[in-house]
Amino acid sequence: MESEEDIFLEMFDRLPRQGPGKDECTRKAYSMLSDLQESPHILDVGCGSGRQTLVLAEISKGHIDALDLNGLFLDDLNERARENGFSENIRTFIGSMIELPFEKENFDLIWAEGAIYIMGFKEGLSYWKQFLKKSGYIAVTEITWLKSSPSARARSFWDNYPEVAMGTIEEKKAIISDIGLDFIGSFVLPEKAWWDDYYVPLEKRLEEMKIKYEDNPVFAAIAEETYAEIDMYRECSDDYGYVFYIMQKKE
Ligand code: SAM
Repeated sequence: MESEEDIFLEMFDRLPRQGPGKDECTRKAYSMLSDLQESPHILDVGCGSGRQTLVLAEISKGHIDALDLNGLFLDDLNERARENGFSENIRTFIGSMIELPFEKENFDLIWAEGAIYIMGFKEGLSYWKQFLKKSGYIAVTEITWLKSSPSARARSFWDNYPEVAMGTIEEKKAIISDIGLDFIGSFVLPEKAWWDDYYVPLEKRLEEMKIKYEDNPVFAAIAEETYAEIDMYRECSDDYGYVFYIMQKKE
C-alpha cells in the first residue's frame, strides 16, 4: 500500500503551486524592495515546483538558488525553467531550510512563499537572516489571523498551527522587531490566491485520485483532512489569510 508520502506527492505533483499564492502578489512584494541591487542573488526557500521562482527570474534578471526537500518538485521546476528560458538563472538544490547548504552573508534577497511555517516564523527568520548580505531583504508569506478575535470554529481548527499559535499581523511585526529586522511592509493576499492556482486544482486532483484509491485508507484520511481545510477556508476566510511580510536586514 502507498505511504502517506506517496499520496502527498501524487496530490501535489505538477499542480501550479503547492500553497496559496498569486503571480501578481509575488510581483507586488518584489516591487516593495526599493534598494535591491541589480541582478540580485536570491534564495527561494521551500520553492516547491517554483511558480514564484519563475516570476522572480523574470522580474529580477538575477540568479536564484531554489531549495526544496523534495526532488520531484525540483524536477518540475527545472523543466519549467527550461521551457521559459530561465535555466541560466535558476539553480535547484535538494536540501533542508533548517540547515542551509550556503555560505553566510551570501544573498541579496531571501524569498519563501508558504514555507516558513515548517520552521516557525520566528525560527525561520532568525536562522535565515545570517545568510543575507548587509541590507539584504527577506520576503515571506505566512498564514495569519486577520482579526484579533477570530471565530471559535477557525480557532479550534488552526489551534496547533503548526506547533504555536498562528498570530496576528501585529504579533508578527513584534517578532520581526525582536529579531532585529526592519519591517518594510505587509499585505494580505486576496482570496483568489487561495483558489485559482491552489485549492481549485487541488480539489480537482483529489476527485481524480478518489477513483484510483477508492478503498485506500491512507488516501481517505489525507483527503478528509484536505477537504476539511478547504471547507474551513470557504467558511472562515474573513478570520485568517496569507500575508506577505517584507523585511530588511539593518546592518
Ligand atoms: N513555495 C511553494 C509555493 O508557494 O507553491 C511551495 C510551498 S509548499 C506549501 C512548502 C514546500 O516546502 C514544499 O515544496 C515542501 O517540499 C518544502 N519543504 C518541506 N520541508 C522542507 C524543509 N525542511 N526544507 C526545505 N523545503 C521543505
